Amino acid sequence: MLIGIDDTDSPAGMCTTYLGAVLARRLIHEHMRVREARLVRLNPNVTFKTRGNAAIALDVEGDPDRAFSLACAIVEELADFSCEKTNPGVVVAETRPDPAFYRKAVTDFCEIEEAVNLLEAAGARYRGWKNRRGLIGATAAVSGIFPDTTYEILAYRDPSRWGTPREVDRESLFAAEEATFPHTWDTVDPVNRVVVCVPHTPDPVLFGIRGESPAWVMMARSLIQSEKPAVEQIWVTNQGTDAHLLAGTCSSLREGLSYRVRGTVTGRPETGPGGHVSFSIRDSGAEVRCMAYEPTKNFREIIRALVPGDTIIAVGSYKKGSINLEKICLVVPARDIRTQPPLCTACNKRMTSAGKDKGYKCRKCGAHEKDPEVQESPRTLSAGWYEVPPTARRHLAKPLCRGVPEHPLPGRVLEECRLQDGNTPP
Ligand code: ATP
Repeated sequence: MLIGIDDTDSPAGMCTTYLGAVLARRLIHEHMRVREARLVRLNPNVTFKTRGNAAIALDVEGDPDRAFSLACAIVEELADFSCEKTNPGVVVAETRPDPAFYRKAVTDFCEIEEAVNLLEAAGARYRGWKNRRGLIGATAAVSGIFPDTTYEILAYRDPSRWGTPREVDRESLFAAEEATFPHTWDTVDPVNRVVVCVPHTPDPVLFGIRGESPAWVMMARSLIQSEKPAVEQIWVTNQGTDAHLLAGTCSSLREGLSYRVRGTVTGRPETGPGGHVSFSIRDSGAEVRCMAYEPTKNFREIIRALVPGDTIIAVGSYKKGSINLEKICLVVPARDIRTQPPLCTACNKRMTSAGKDKGYKCRKCGAHEKDPEVQESPRTLSAGWYEVPPTARRHLAKPLCRGVPEHPLPGRVLEECRLQDGNTPP
């Protein structure tokens, strides 16, 4: 059977993954076999989410009635019902509902009734609390088939420590990243010297290590010194797989969905108030704005180096008329050319336009020139993929250290991946 749970936490505490880890142990205690624990991220632009829009699914062998009653009991025991936005859902399905529902939930928006209709058709046991919205995530979690997977080991704190400062040795996190990157990622942001894997919210998570296999996340985890976790769970996840992305064109983007869009840069990127950088791309007559917000830090330097005429693939969520960039591919770099009216050789003054298609004219002596002065600068950016730093990465965004299947890894990225020959999984 597949057990799905979602929407149990609030900004004040709890985490659906913790509840899932505790449930897995209770099922095992009752002699059921937990074959797999899945952490499933859904559309990152859903406004109902508390933090990262996660749901969980457990693949279990055992008595479905007993499992359903244990899952409902743990939700009643641990979910934060006091929060208006907490609307839990539990599903126990003996056959997997149509995976198309997961695809929709990770890329688009779903209705509660769609989930209920699917559960009825699949003959699943289910229960929703309050407005029952959690049934969407719980149904998506059990219906999902992932074409690509990664792993995360989550260490959870003892309940007596929830809400207190976390004790995790900072240097051991940097050492774990150094020893296991690029097989694990986003433990820290080495460039900005920031710890990424330890949350600041009052939930039960102590830290989480993401990587390509259980062996690699375990190896990184073994290098971390911290307060003693109460529970640890390795999750199979769709994190870091770009599962949220759709192919898009400038004229076909829908609010709250995430895309790869190929287009031509129309003008030089501009830095606005707050340090946010914007520019536009165009394809077949339509134009869309792209944004690299201040939290994307050094990524903005890459964006500022784009020039008009560059062909790029912009990747990110379309929100309020802009693509919020997660990464870009510079496919065909343009020449960096700036033009200005020529100097009048007699007067040493800049000429001005003599009218449309009429060249330039010196206002002082009346001399004419046909062509503008052209200045070409060498490009600082070469073709290839560029991404936001780990501090700004969304859970679903595929890090470049995992490779970019449809475009070979550019040399620059390989170099930055710091591939270490000595790093072999334990
Ligand atoms: P938690 O740890 O509780 O899962 P979270 O940040 O993951 O926290 P939730 O509290 O689960 O966020 O809130 C997300 C809500 O949005 C859930 O009720 C979920 O069922 C619902 N939801 C998820 N994806 C979609 C979607 N694509 N369309 C509509 N609703 C969705």
